[in-house]
Amino acid sequence: MYYPCPVCGYGQMTEPPENYNICPSCGTEFGYHDLSTSHRSLRNKWLANGAKWFSFATPKPDIYWNGFVQVTGAGLPYDVPAPSDSFKEVEVTVPGSDTPEMTQPCQSR
Ligand SMILES: [Zn+2]
Repeated sequence: MYYPCPVCGYGQMTEPPENYNICPSCGTEFGYHDLSTSHRSLRNKWLANGAKWFSFATPKPDIYWNGFVQVTGAGLPYDVPAPSDSFKEVEVTVPGSDTPEMTQPCQSR
């Protein structure tokens, strides 16, 4: 049996969102994080931080997983702007990704 996360819309929590269970998607610990903060506020905070997958033990549903798409697909409201270009720039920072494109094929044979 799966339970939906009321914060991020992740639909495959194996435990209900209560009793200190933690959503593998957004990392909300239910009964703790949502004690004094509304689910909507937690959602906004998660999205504002880039909507990153939380769990190391549970893999993302698929490699194209996107937190914003998940929230939108679940029909959950949020109050932060959708990812902008500057937003993406932070996520795409991969060390050592500067491929040497200046390498010319050897033509002096
Ligand atoms: Zn969640």
